Amino acid sequence: MRVIIKDTCQGCGTCEAAVPDVFQIQEDGSARVLVDTVPEQLEQDVREAAENCPTESIELVD
Ligand code: SF4
Repeated sequence: MRVIIKDTCQGCGTCEAAVPDVFQIQEDGSARVLVDTVPEQLEQDVREAAENCPTESIELVD
């Protein structure tokens, strides 16, 4: 699974708080993805982070 952050991200930090090994808030206030491919053991957490993103900015690519 790969993750794409859309430019609608508002930097709320929810994803980083949930899965800090995958998401990180940058200095410009938007989230970035730290991994090319999500480790299998974190896939469920990343799916939940995508569902919980208030701006639906986390796109998952299987
Ligand atoms: S939860 Fe969504 S809006 Fe908030 S920082 Fe992450 S990608 Fe951006």
